[in-house]
Amino acid sequence: MTRRDLLKKWTSVLIALVTSMCLASQAQEKGKAAPKQVAIRAGRLIDGKSDAPIANALIVIEGDTIKSVTAGGTPPTGVEVLDLSKATVLPGFVDTHTHVLLNGDITAEDYDAQLLKQSIPYRAILGARNARVALEHGFTTIRDLETEGAMYADVDVKSAIAKEEVPGPRMQVSTRAMTPTGMYPLLGYSWELQVPKGVQYVDGVVGARKAVREQIMYGADWIKYYSDRRYHFEADGVLHSMVNFTDEEAKAIVDETHRLGKKVAAHAIGSDGIAAALRAGVDTIEHGDGLTDALIDEMARKGVYWVPTITVGAYVAPGRGGNWTKMVDLEKAAFQKALKKGVKIALGTDAGGFDWKELNQAKEFEYYVNYGMTPMQAIRSGTVVPAELLGWSDKIGTIETGKWADIVAVSGDPLKDIAELERVTFVMKAGRIYLRK
Ligand SMILES: [Zn+2]
Repeated sequence: MTRRDLLKKWTSVLIALVTSMCLASQAQEKGKAAPKQVAIRAGRLIDGKSDAPIANALIVIEGDTIKSVTAGGTPPTGVEVLDLSKATVLPGFVDTHTHVLLNGDITAEDYDAQLLKQSIPYRAILGARNARVALEHGFTTIRDLETEGAMYADVDVKSAIAKEEVPGPRMQVSTRAMTPTGMYPLLGYSWELQVPKGVQYVDGVVGARKAVREQIMYGADWIKYYSDRRYHFEADGVLHSMVNFTDEEAKAIVDETHRLGKKVAAHAIGSDGIAAALRAGVDTIEHGDGLTDALIDEMARKGVYWVPTITVGAYVAPGRGGNWTKMVDLEKAAFQKALKKGVKIALGTDAGGFDWKELNQAKEFEYYVNYGMTPMQAIRSGTVVPAELLGWSDKIGTIETGKWADIVAVSGDPLKDIAELERVTFVMKAGRIYLRK
């Protein structure tokens, strides 16, 4: 064989080889199963963006994503249709204030017992159980706002759900929360004992920045701090409180968190605590019972979200007595003003502050309607608004093409009876069905 023949031969071998490799990879491509399609026929669809429900809507889902939403329409041939033609279909609910690691703390004793008598692994097991409860109540996304002494176990619950090891909502978590030394339980034990703390004690500007970095290193999506404590009424009739951090410390927490691309939630109940948190530049105010007219204006102007957690306030008040009962009425009045002034109100319940097994957190919707929202406004406060708060508007909050298939259904009409949302009959998260009654 001449050199030229040899070259020709090897070239043809090489071409054959490359061609067969290409064909093989094409075949492999064809063999790869396309994501499964499924369709939902919805009797009434509240999609989260339209002002009125859409009758007889068809939602086509491909894998974990919504492929199309049409009024009427015919499902693609061969695609399984889930018949919800007698139901109202809505976007998955979002609760922006939960504690999956907590199981009710009406009294200090309830709280101390959980931190002293239950190990963190035991609490994490209950945390996974609570996450499932939330999902089965229609909450496909939650923001969990601190572990109450269970360190970073919320990150573990979140990861196990994300890896589909256990059922639960999508989660954003805030890990340990912060107060200065001595300003959060467990307190009152002998100084000889090292008892667990419900938060991370953080002092000084340097300490604040370090704590933020540490919590984010271990998986915090949010930083939460306690702006105040010791709530009390003064002669002006306003609910006041003792502010925990100096302004310099609070500003350091917020600045460092924002610098690292995360957001800050502040527990703030009294007017002084709310004012301090707004001065520091937080992104969300939690509870906010003592909101004054001026503070409501400031929140509306700055676009700070309010997470009212009415369910927990109403639930713990009888057991705690004193100011807690007055605070429920106070918050109702603040809610009505904030609604009129256009404050962004995101649904949050403080589930965990009440026992997950005793109350359905969807009760919060009912309070919002009783306090002055239209049913549609209440639904938006538990879907679209929290989606924005979480920075996930492109993925959740509405039933629209391209979003994650997080879909729930109820048999009645929640626009006529909002309590219907406490009786979900169907829950889908990322295209997977978790409940079907
Ligand atoms: Zn809370």
